[in-house]
Amino acid sequence: MAKYDVAIIGSGPGGYVGAIRAGELGLKTIVVEKDPFLGGTCLHVGCIPTKVLLHHADVYDHFKNGAELGFEVSGLKINWANIQTRKNKIVTKHAKGVEFLFKKNKVEWVQGWGKYDGAGKVCVEKDGKKSTIEAGAILLVSGSEAKSLPGIEPDHKQILTNRSILQLTEIPKSLIVVGAGAVGVEFASIFNSFGTEVTILEALPRVVPLEDEEVSAELDKSFQKKGIHISTGCSVEGVNKDAKCVTVSFKDKAGKAQTLHAEKLLLAVGRQPMTANCGLEKSKAKVERGFVHVNQYMQTDEPGLYAVGDIVAGMPQLAHAAMMEGIVAVTHIAGKPTQPVLKTRIPSATYCEPQIGSIGLTEKQAKDAGYKVKIGKFPFVGNSKATILGSHGGFVKVVSDEKYGEVLGIHIIGPLATEILSEATTVLKLEGTIDDMMNMVHAHPTVWEAMGDAFASVRGLQINV
Ligand SMILES: Cc1cc2nc3c(=O)[nH]c(=O)nc-3n(C[C@H](O)[C@H](O)[C@H](O)COP(=O)(O)OP(=O)(O)OC[C@H]3O[C@@H](n4cnc5c(N)ncnc54)[C@H](O)[C@@H]3O)c2cc1C
Repeated sequence: MAKYDVAIIGSGPGGYVGAIRAGELGLKTIVVEKDPFLGGTCLHVGCIPTKVLLHHADVYDHFKNGAELGFEVSGLKINWANIQTRKNKIVTKHAKGVEFLFKKNKVEWVQGWGKYDGAGKVCVEKDGKKSTIEAGAILLVSGSEAKSLPGIEPDHKQILTNRSILQLTEIPKSLIVVGAGAVGVEFASIFNSFGTEVTILEALPRVVPLEDEEVSAELDKSFQKKGIHISTGCSVEGVNKDAKCVTVSFKDKAGKAQTLHAEKLLLAVGRQPMTANCGLEKSKAKVERGFVHVNQYMQTDEPGLYAVGDIVAGMPQLAHAAMMEGIVAVTHIAGKPTQPVLKTRIPSATYCEPQIGSIGLTEKQAKDAGYKVKIGKFPFVGNSKATILGSHGGFVKVVSDEKYGEVLGIHIIGPLATEILSEATTVLKLEGTIDDMMNMVHAHPTVWEAMGDAFASVRGLQINV
């Protein structure tokens, strides 16, 4: 029996960041991880490998458009095996990095299946052997896994999930992506760049349905222009497969029965929490459809048990949300002041081409909430750096409250959207107003300065369009 201040089940971004901060705060900390490596979904099959592939797709797009930039490019070829090797190297390097940071901060970790085992206890099972860890506080950070559709089971050869699509040894000639959320549109973007014929099937009326409606419309337009086929408002009814292809049957938005064939199919229909067999039944924690309810310090209804990350009810399933939740939980355990994570202050970044970055209320959400909404919108076509980059589609849209000029939401689609999102996040966190922001000096020429024009456009005072 070993005694710790904190035991953390799961080493994804919520778990490993929480553990490192706990170490920094002087808490004796241990992490239990079922896999033989640290980093979770984000590092191994989520954020990092997909962003590596998106970067490679971006570089390839630049080569393909070489003539536009004054280069004569010939003999251009994709070496998929080399791309996969680089992706895997990056993942391994960062997993080792997490191990290094654990050592640096005196965080211990053990491999095994962790289960809450009553007040202050975690049962760890590995190869049929059980041991117990005693800890003052326990964090459950067990993450999520891909959902499938009723009757459509991934076989990981033709019907893929976000895990198996990363293992492809060849670029498929055609791909059907079911689901147009962040995961679906990122893979659609990657394989479209690499020459795959991509079709997206989405049940809701628009792509990236959580984004502002104008952002969805812009992405739809841009994807269609790149040759990605999109069918929204459709319901997938079944998938048949033979040795060569998958055939999807679906009803289109007019209710007409349709079929589509492709070499591969990716299921990107959301993620479900992995809380089964984690011992929650031994606790008073409130669990709903697998999601765990917590208060502002990530405490469940069971004293001493916290929940963090993708398993938390009502919070977005994002790595950076999990990281901050982990920090809040362990800071609270250490008895130090902390600031709760507010849902409306969590940025959302989608790295397809064009990129999307957003935070806060959409125009519709702000109107529905009763605000007298004032919109500002600045198209990247008026931004000189975007022109230099050869990427001037999209816009920055600011949603504000007319009364005090409060910034309620910012929605960006276009070049470097996921980077210039940093200013949007700062404004909302610090409760800045339109007047603060339109009077802030933005460096020129940067893509970032489009933010300044967008804030000014709320008052009809934009300069560059
Ligand atoms: C394809 C894809 C792309 C994504 N891209 C982004 C992105 O760009 N940006 C972003 O913010 N988010 C992205 N996400 C979401 C992000 O990966 C998750 O929000 C994040 O990983 C959640 O972190 P977590 O710590 O809650 O859980 P996870 O990262 O899922 O980690 C949970 C860990 O717990 C372990 N575990 C589970 N149960 C047990 C148990 N009982 N005992 C021991 N160990 C256990 C698992 O093995 C895993 O290591 C992406 C997701 C996917 C699928």
